[in-house]
Amino acid sequence: MTDNYTRFVSRGFGKDLAQRLGLPQPVILRRHRPDAPLVDGPVLVQGSTRGADELAAALLAWNLDVRRHAVPKEKLCAIILVLDELAHPDDLAEPVLTAAGSLRDLAPNARFISVSRTAASAADPAAAAARQGVDGLLRSLAKELRAGATANGVLLGDDAETTSPSTLGALGFFLSGRSAFVDGQFLTVSSGGGRLPDDAAKPLAGKTAVVTGAARGIGAAIARTLYRDGATLIVVDVPAAGDHLAEVANEVRGTALQLDITRPDAGQRIIDHAVERHHGLDIMVHNAGITRDKLLANMDPGRWNSVLAVNIAAQLRINEALLASAHFRGSPRIVSVASTSGIAGNRGQTNYAASKGGVTGMVRATVPLMAAHGGTVNAVAPGFIETDMTARIPFATREVARRLNSLQQGGRPGDVAEAIAFLASDAAGGISGEVLRVCGQNLVGA
Ligand code: NAD
Repeated sequence: MTDNYTRFVSRGFGKDLAQRLGLPQPVILRRHRPDAPLVDGPVLVQGSTRGADELAAALLAWNLDVRRHAVPKEKLCAIILVLDELAHPDDLAEPVLTAAGSLRDLAPNARFISVSRTAASAADPAAAAARQGVDGLLRSLAKELRAGATANGVLLGDDAETTSPSTLGALGFFLSGRSAFVDGQFLTVSSGGGRLPDDAAKPLAGKTAVVTGAARGIGAAIARTLYRDGATLIVVDVPAAGDHLAEVANEVRGTALQLDITRPDAGQRIIDHAVERHHGLDIMVHNAGITRDKLLANMDPGRWNSVLAVNIAAQLRINEALLASAHFRGSPRIVSVASTSGIAGNRGQTNYAASKGGVTGMVRATVPLMAAHGGTVNAVAPGFIETDMTARIPFATREVARRLNSLQQGGRPGDVAEAIAFLASDAAGGISGEVLRVCGQNLVGA
C-alpha cells in the first residue's frame, strides 16, 4: 500500500502545497506489472566502447527503443552509461558530462544505470581510481534524481562482459519495475555464467523453492512473487503460525511445512519434505527473522540468544545440510534476508545487527561452497519496509524513518521479494556473494 502522505502529495493541491512548503515529494513508484513492457519508452545507451555497441545491440534484440545519441527534448525512460574501458579518472569527464546533458530529459520513474568494471580487478592505481570513482558518482547521482527515478550500477568482474547473461539479467532487473525501491546500489557480475529465461514471464519455471517465515509479511510476499514467476513453493513457518501458513500455501498452490527453523534437524526436515513432495529443491530463501530490541546496556541472554539463533545460527545449520545433500544440485540458489541494520547499525539493535551482519559474512564465505555445486548465494538487505512490524513503530519515529531515503517513502514487501526472485533466477547465475540493499538508498548510516 502507498502511504497516505505519498498519495496526498502525488497530485493536485497536495503536490502544489508540498512544493511551496519544500516538503518531501515522494511519488508513486513504477512497479512490476506482468502485462507492462520492461521500459515504456526510449533508452539511451551512452558510451563509445565496443562493449557499449554490443550492449546496445543486445537491448535492440529485446525490442527496446534504443538510442545511441540523445535527441534534444525527447523524454528518456532510461540512460545506460557504459564505462567498461576506464583507464584513468580523466576518462570519466567526457562520457559522464555527456550523460549529464540528458538528465533533465528523464521521465518520472526513469532509470540511470552505469555499467563499469570492479575496482578490485584493476591492474594499476589509475584504473582502480577511475573505476572506484564510478561508485561515488553513481551513489551521489541517486541522491540527486527526483520523481521516482533511480540510479544503480552493474559492475563487471574480470570474467564478465557487457553482454554476459547476468549483465543483461541485472540490467533487465534495474530497468524494470521490479527494482522500484532499489536505489544507489551496485550488483557485481563475477562470471559469464547464468542463462536468460526462455519465458521472461516465468523465469523460475521448473524450480522448487523453500521460503522460511512465509506465513506473513515479507516471507508471504516472497512466496507469492516466486509463484508468479513460475516456481513451485514449499512454505515454512512455526507451528503457531500454521493457519496463516496454510492460507499462503493454498494461495501459491504449494505445500506447507510447519517447522521451527532453530530445531537441530531443520535442514534435514526441509530436504525430506522437498524430496517426498517435490522431487528435491533448487532455491532456499532464508527469510524468517525476529527482533528483540534493547540497548546493549540492558541486554539479557534471552533476547541476545533468541535473535542469533533464528536469524543466523539456523541459516548456517540448514545450509550445511543442503550443501551435504545430493538433492540440492544443478544450479542451486541460496538467498538470505539481511538488513540495513546489519550494515549501518541501529540503536537498540546490537543483537539483530550482529545476526544480520552475520548473514552477510556467511553469504560471502559460502560462495565457493555453492560454486562447487554450480550454484550461487546472495542476500537482500531491506531498509524500511511497510509491514506489520514497522506499522507498530510510534507515528513520529515511523514517519522520519520512512522518509529518510532518496525515494522519501517506505518500500513494500513485494520490493524485497522482487530482488530475491531475480537473485534466485538462472539469469543471476553469474552473481554470487552480493548483498543487495532494497532500501530506497537510506540516507542514514553506511
Ligand atoms: P514478520 O515478523 O512479519 O515475519 C517473520 C516470520 O518469520 C513470521 O511469520 C514468523 O512466525 C516467522 N518465524 C520467526 N521465527 C521463526 C522460526 N524459528 N522458525 C520458522 N519461522 C519463524 O517479519 P517481516 O517484517 O516480514 O521480516 C521478514 C524478514 O525481513 C526478517 O528476516 C526481517 O529481519 C527482515 N527485515 C525486515 C524489515 C522490515 O522493515 N520489515 C527490514 C529489514 C529486514
